[in-house]
Amino acid sequence: MARFIFITGGVVSSLGKGLASAALGALLQARGFTVRLRKLDPYLNVDPGTMSPFEHGEVFVTDDGAETDLDLGHYERFTGVAARSTDSISSGRIYSNVLEKERRGDYLGKTIQVIPHVTNEIKDFIAAGEDEVDFMLCEIGGTVGDIEGLPFFEAIRQFSQDKPRGQCIFMHLTLLPYIKASGELKTKPTQHSVKELRSIGIAPDVLVCRSEGPIPAKEREKLALFCNVRPDSVIAAQDLKSIYEAPLAYHREGLDQAVLDAFQINPAPKPDLSKWEDVSDRIFNAEGEVRVAIVGKYTQLEDAYKSIAEALTHGGMANRVRVKAEWIDAEIFEREDPGPWLEGFHAILVPGGFGERGTEGKMKAAQFARTRGVPYLGICLGMQMAVIEAARNVAELSDAGSEEFDHEAGKKRFTPVVYHLKEWVQGNAMVKRKLGDDKGGTMRLGAYTAHLLKGSKVAEIYGSTVIEERHRHRYEVDIKYRKQLEACGMVFSGMSPDGRLPEIVEWKDHPWFIGVQFHPELKSKPFAPHPLFADFVRAAVEVSRLV
Ligand code: GLN
Repeated sequence: MARFIFITGGVVSSLGKGLASAALGALLQARGFTVRLRKLDPYLNVDPGTMSPFEHGEVFVTDDGAETDLDLGHYERFTGVAARSTDSISSGRIYSNVLEKERRGDYLGKTIQVIPHVTNEIKDFIAAGEDEVDFMLCEIGGTVGDIEGLPFFEAIRQFSQDKPRGQCIFMHLTLLPYIKASGELKTKPTQHSVKELRSIGIAPDVLVCRSEGPIPAKEREKLALFCNVRPDSVIAAQDLKSIYEAPLAYHREGLDQAVLDAFQINPAPKPDLSKWEDVSDRIFNAEGEVRVAIVGKYTQLEDAYKSIAEALTHGGMANRVRVKAEWIDAEIFEREDPGPWLEGFHAILVPGGFGERGTEGKMKAAQFARTRGVPYLGICLGMQMAVIEAARNVAELSDAGSEEFDHEAGKKRFTPVVYHLKEWVQGNAMVKRKLGDDKGGTMRLGAYTAHLLKGSKVAEIYGSTVIEERHRHRYEVDIKYRKQLEACGMVFSGMSPDGRLPEIVEWKDHPWFIGVQFHPELKSKPFAPHPLFADFVRAAVEVSRLV
């Protein structure tokens, strides 16, 4: 039976709770334990799939096709454990499950209440698959005191009582603000946050305190005394230069030791941190730098492309270079020549996206990369844009476009080189979709196999002709145009196993131009960089040596 670690936050949001949870997961693994991480989000959306990236950052897709919180990306990148749909839940999902059961009559005439019906649903989610791992780490989104979060806090309180003593611990993450004028690190907000937590029946075992600098002994003792935790369970979480320092930094501060002490696991197995030492070495001892332009739409919010930013960093680590990613708003290229903006970059990446805004600019970026021989990686919409650009400017289909944009505009303007996908094979079944279906959870989602063309660039990069990658799209390049495009030199080098859905295109006579219908960034890890990102950065390094 698993031991449970509940991670909560206080004082302010965005303290890096997800990262702290992921780093703790990695440290427990380094000590030989198996882990699974889960996220419980108090918002009312059933999942983040329908939220704008501006609201919630990137949507992280699991192999089994769930659209989840971006923290699951951190969990995977740090632990290498593939997240599942059962690792992410929101109030919306909980309530919709409860209401579905109520309509079915499952509650046998009872009055449905937050306690016990909603809390029981949350507890079932937490406990699912508990026999599979040594530690289950459950992070509660938001901060203590939020109205929406209350059922979750109540559920984890009950859960710890339902389990035998010593099976659950609570870790609370707070902020110690530094007041410049008086030169003091303030503990009061943390004291209040813990008081709030205790008022709902939860006493933290471990306190993780974000601060700009180290926590002086006096403040540490004060925190221990007023928050009722042991002094060695007050863990300093100082700002770091790279998130991948987190496991080593938390280990130095004694986080894993404090957690194992709280469970009375004695003696604790010694950790093997060599994997993280190598990761740090690659980040901090990189030689040289490459500049990659990311031409997209959600450029004001870096979290919108979190996994891409991380996968580029991993690609840099594979080549022992730093990758300087610069975000450029695609709409600029609709007004201005991309030349002056893009010259000087060693590679160009066009990420995924939805809707027509900015797409003409993305095509300009693809055209620039194609004609100038600059390495190009097009992801999902970035692949579709590369294909439409090729259709318009090379295959002379001047009105080529995507049905997505016609649907959005409510009128037909384009020849649909990219069309609305109405059916596809999943396992042994046929999935069917039509226009006007619900928006939530209806895309082609999750891991699908693709077959790669022998001798193609991608087959060489992957070192295989069968791959499995995660998808999240509603539209697809129409196979009908394959011949026409291949006659121009574009190779359809990856296809769905039934040969109907183009998964990868590449230009034959280009140093490095690849478009993929899937999201390779979701599977990249610092200790196992994704081959496409590793090779993309390698190609960028080559360009940087030429200039
Ligand atoms: N909007 C496009 C589609 O639905 C691309 C999606 C994406 O980039 N994730 O097919």
